[in-house]
Amino acid sequence: MEQIVEHFRAITAIPRCSYHTAQMKERIKTFAHALAFTVHEDAVGNILCQKGEPKVCLQAHYDMVCIGDTQKIEIVIEAGLIKAKNSTLGADNGMGMAIMFWAMEHNENLECLFTVDEEVGLIGAMQFEMPLKSSSLLNLDAEEEGEIYIGCAGGVDVIASLNLHFEPLSESMHLYEIHAFDFLGGHSGVDIDKKIPSAIKALGYELLNQDVVLVALEGGERRNAIPKSATAIVASKRPLHVNDSRLHVKPLEQRNYTHFIAESNAIMRALGAFAQGVREWDRTLDIPSISINLGVISNQEGVLRLDCAARAMDDENLAILAAETEAFFKALGFEVTQEGWHGAWKPEVTPFALRVQEAMQSIYAHAPFKAIHAGLECGELIARQPRKIEAVSIGPTIRYPHSLREECDLASVDKTALIVQKIINTYKD
Ligand SMILES: [Zn+2]
Repeated sequence: MEQIVEHFRAITAIPRCSYHTAQMKERIKTFAHALAFTVHEDAVGNILCQKGEPKVCLQAHYDMVCIGDTQKIEIVIEAGLIKAKNSTLGADNGMGMAIMFWAMEHNENLECLFTVDEEVGLIGAMQFEMPLKSSSLLNLDAEEEGEIYIGCAGGVDVIASLNLHFEPLSESMHLYEIHAFDFLGGHSGVDIDKKIPSAIKALGYELLNQDVVLVALEGGERRNAIPKSATAIVASKRPLHVNDSRLHVKPLEQRNYTHFIAESNAIMRALGAFAQGVREWDRTLDIPSISINLGVISNQEGVLRLDCAARAMDDENLAILAAETEAFFKALGFEVTQEGWHGAWKPEVTPFALRVQEAMQSIYAHAPFKAIHAGLECGELIARQPRKIEAVSIGPTIRYPHSLREECDLASVDKTALIVQKIINTYKD
């Protein structure tokens, strides 16, 4: 279907990096108006297009991750793959948009939702409140052909903080820097089950077994990333022997430090005892159902702060995990707050999911149901609807999104478009 690639080329010619999507938004509105769709826009810039009596709403985000020379994206087609020469391609989620443009040209009863700034924290989806006419939502942002996503994790950040007090260090204490670095790192959702060690936990567990006091402490990169590095400055009465060979110890000759942290014990116990990683596994979907990541340790103006990202595949377990984590840190003297709650899209084989599977099985024999242990727009979008909406996410195969190697399989685009049309057709009588 050359028309879809042509739509994709046209979309790609318009800049749409996250936060800089105004031109793209105008293009979508013009396109929809020309096809006699009614167009609604909300305050953040989500665009909802409606025509006739739709039963299904197609959805994609219209921003993209811009890496490399995205001022002018040069498309290359090679051996059935579409790529960009020196930049991200934006097939995530531009190919989904192209399929929607194509479907808008061929259907009289259709609803299409274009969300804004997905790539920078589901911004559009988290504020979408316009009521849908359809009772089914078909998101086109999945990245593996033939798979049907029916759920995603919810998340909440748990922040523990502790006011630090300092006491003078005796001259006779030995000072050391213990450094964990070059750990692999990864995403705190989709990589949390990959047995990737956390630099913060490696350091924390070592400290639990040492007779030391803390002088300074920091670690991690982002709340939602498995920590790659962590550093502690410690003071010890005796020469220090560290057991973990992944940790690097350096004696500090210069006495730049004069005080130690009075709350050292509580902090070391918290880091040592914190249970990082997968807390419960879903055997049916073969993904984690509950997990937590202690992502960042920071220290600002005498307040030590530990940032944790908690996730669960249903809201009830998410609330329990957050409450347990809160209680854990409070028992050690920390103050705790929760931030940025977003609800889970609980995996469920709904009648709509079965309808999508049936359409998909005409092309893909297996068409398995999947869920992901990270946040997707679907979860946010249906949470804010006044009535129950059944959502499913599918999409063509996109490899290495958000990188210069991003590529999309064109045969999978055609197949996905056919399936989308088949699904729409099942509502025609
Ligand atoms: Zn995407």
